[in-house]
Amino acid sequence: MVVGDVQVGGRAPITVQSMTTSKTGDVDGTLEQIYALAGAGADIVRCTCNDQAAVEGLARIVPRSPVPLVADIHFQYKLALAALDAGVDCLRLNPGNIRKPADIKAVASAAKDRGVPIRIGVNGGSLDPDIEEKYGMTAEALVESAKRELGHFEDVGFDDVKISVKASDVRLMVDSYRLLSDTVDYPLHLGVTEAGPPPNGIVKATAGIATLLNEGIGDTIRYSLTADPVEEAKVGRKLLEVLGLRERKGLDLIACPSCGRAEVDVIQVAADAQAALGERELAVQVAVMGCVVNGPGEAKGADLGIAAGRKRGHLFVRGQVVKVVPEDEMVDALVEWAEKIAHEGIEGALADADASAQGEAEKDRLELIDIQGEDANNSEQVVELIRSRTSKT
Ligand code: SF4
Repeated sequence: MVVGDVQVGGRAPITVQSMTTSKTGDVDGTLEQIYALAGAGADIVRCTCNDQAAVEGLARIVPRSPVPLVADIHFQYKLALAALDAGVDCLRLNPGNIRKPADIKAVASAAKDRGVPIRIGVNGGSLDPDIEEKYGMTAEALVESAKRELGHFEDVGFDDVKISVKASDVRLMVDSYRLLSDTVDYPLHLGVTEAGPPPNGIVKATAGIATLLNEGIGDTIRYSLTADPVEEAKVGRKLLEVLGLRERKGLDLIACPSCGRAEVDVIQVAADAQAALGERELAVQVAVMGCVVNGPGEAKGADLGIAAGRKRGHLFVRGQVVKVVPEDEMVDALVEWAEKIAHEGIEGALADADASAQGEAEKDRLELIDIQGEDANNSEQVVELIRSRTSKT
């Protein structure tokens, strides 16, 4: 299966997922969190899609997200359809929440038409009552819930699926995934639900996830911690590194996906930056951003970044523009400031900021908004489409 451009399952590396905690309708706040998660090692990020504001937020966030996005659907199947309109890369459905077969099939059919995968996210805390009554809170119950949902999907010929059977009890979680992997041949998303705050939550989740990964079960993982989600992504990434399932991260380079606002070839600049910085083994997080309008804000969690606009590069440290350089000097400037941060720290780098940089940057930013308009990605058209569809009963 492919979520956006990330392969999940088969021989692909195990991936790390996390979930934003912001209101998805808060576009800038959510994007900032997505960038922080991507920088911390998340390959895929899930956002809640629980109301109209959230799905409209997704329509505006998707073109600007650096990683594939999964819409977490709650009780309303129409929001799943709207999330597909918004362009998300995957849906997560909880079989315990949307129960009408016709609704489930409508979503699966629409996902099939668009080539978008779905995670069947069974949760021990919200099983179908009849399944729980028949099997009790057991591995059989969780797997039965997944199989029932799969049956609805199969009715409409949809099989682009990954599955999770999460429970907060570690033994139940491990038993459920073992049974599931004996029963089906789909990619599995591992997690201990509601593991709680660190350090206990980390111990619980690691006990379950690592046990299964060592048995060769699992294709993607999420730590569900009561903490800043950046911690989830970091711990998930670290677990995969210590198990030898992912390479150790040195330089941490993130790049925006390049949307309608991009003022430069982001992929090329990111490749040049990777080549120039990679050999230096600096433990610095660097963001390459396509425009000065949103770049410094979206990636303000990064140690260092560069955003392009008006043939110039805005170099920023933790979101603060410290220098404006000609476009062809962007990569050299990145290297210089990455060295500075590595040796003098963030505070030292900020102390060297050009006094005029913030003012110049704001001028470029306003000029670009003037030229490109407020809606460079035509997101508002998508929002109008979503509104017209969700208002129909
Ligand atoms: S071009 Fe600008 S708005 Fe578009 S994704 Fe990149 S940084 Fe964000």
